[in-house]
Amino acid sequence: MSNKIQAIRGMNDLLPEQSPVWQYFERQIQHLMQRYGYSEIRMPIIEQTALFKRSIGEVTDIVEKEMYTFDDRNGDSLTLRPEGTASCVRAALENGLLYNQTQRLWYQGPMFRHERPQKGRYRQFHQVGVEAYGMYGPDIDVEMILLSARLWEALGLMPHVQLELNSLGSNEARAAYRDALVAHFEAHSDVLDEDSRRRLSTNPLRILDSKNPDMAAMLADAPRLMDHLDEESRVHFAELTTMLEAAGIDYVINPRLVRGLDYYSRTVFEWTTQALGSQGTVCAGGRYDGLVEQLGGKPTPGVGFAMGVERLILLLETLDLIPDTARPRTDVYLTAMGDAASREAMLLGERLRSDLPDMHLQLHCGGGSFKSQIKKADKSGARMALILGEDELASGQVGIKFLREERDQESVALDALAARLKTLLAEA
Ligand code: ATP
Ligand code: MG
Repeated sequence: MSNKIQAIRGMNDLLPEQSPVWQYFERQIQHLMQRYGYSEIRMPIIEQTALFKRSIGEVTDIVEKEMYTFDDRNGDSLTLRPEGTASCVRAALENGLLYNQTQRLWYQGPMFRHERPQKGRYRQFHQVGVEAYGMYGPDIDVEMILLSARLWEALGLMPHVQLELNSLGSNEARAAYRDALVAHFEAHSDVLDEDSRRRLSTNPLRILDSKNPDMAAMLADAPRLMDHLDEESRVHFAELTTMLEAAGIDYVINPRLVRGLDYYSRTVFEWTTQALGSQGTVCAGGRYDGLVEQLGGKPTPGVGFAMGVERLILLLETLDLIPDTARPRTDVYLTAMGDAASREAMLLGERLRSDLPDMHLQLHCGGGSFKSQIKKADKSGARMALILGEDELASGQVGIKFLREERDQESVALDALAARLKTLLAEA
């Protein structure tokens, strides 16, 4: 029997080699959010189960099959959050952020869904979520889309993603459409699969979302929500597309885009890519004007989206779009031979870090021969090794050995070292 305990399936470690790429992505996000005036909010990763049931909807894949739900020691039913919107609305309501004001918020963090793990689909995955409250018009919908488009530009992804749009209309319009849709499905009940038959009475819109190829032809002929919109939703959508066109954003209307969560109304959108196989949606969202009220607040419009961080990073890696500057660098590796020199090196390292705050200096710890230390210096990727041996110590000098260029070693007086390094670093 092996006594090694392993990680939970579908829940990944983020290794030191990968974390710089995540940090690069996170820096882009922070910068972007600041530029558009969005503030970060951090919610707990566990909530009362009722929060997700009431918001996402009982008859959805997430609530029916994917949630990590358990009783805590008090017997309360808790759930690891499968998404962030519900928590964000709860937090905003609970802290009075929606009272007589608009809000622009964002968050990032792990989400949990018990799905079949595969490339681009995990049981713990990460989202960046963006939400705005208190604004009814299509202008804020457009802002959200432009903000995401600017991120794709910054990351070099724009040529590889496509914007898909749909409108789900008002609740009333959707109810009328639902009847037309059910009639169509009933007329073709022979091609409905088991999942779809079950959904016919509970959530027929979701059948449109089915990826079953046997149902594709029947779904293509289904009545289109777009043709059943109420007047207000029609105008909202028309203004949205007009503004997107003015901003030069390409889109396609996908009448089958219904999203897997019940709280959406009017605008829904997804950014998709062909480069990741079937896990092609990298960002998805829409308007949810009824959700705040549903969770006990005053009627307050909301709109938002979430990006799948793993999928975006996979895409950046697949397309080789990670700039060299995203990787960590070491400028200088400080070696020391002998006990006295090692003690001095520790202090020298600290002095240099104080004098040159932008320099990345790694100190050799653990002793060893000159040769083995230089080997480590080389492996660190540093441009230069600093050499402090007993001779150097006695003469108050430090050696500078260049590891990446044909260049003579230099010998520099200790008190001139910081200035010399500053000059050398400015060369690169
Ligand atoms: P899918 O259709 O791929 O299951 P979804 O509609 O369930 O996606 P959302 O709930 O809209 O996804 O979540 C927003 C984004 O989060 C998705 O577009 C995707 O990029 C990412 N995402 C969702 N589920 C997972 C998962 N299990 N693993 C990794 N990323 C995920
Ligand atoms: Mg899903």
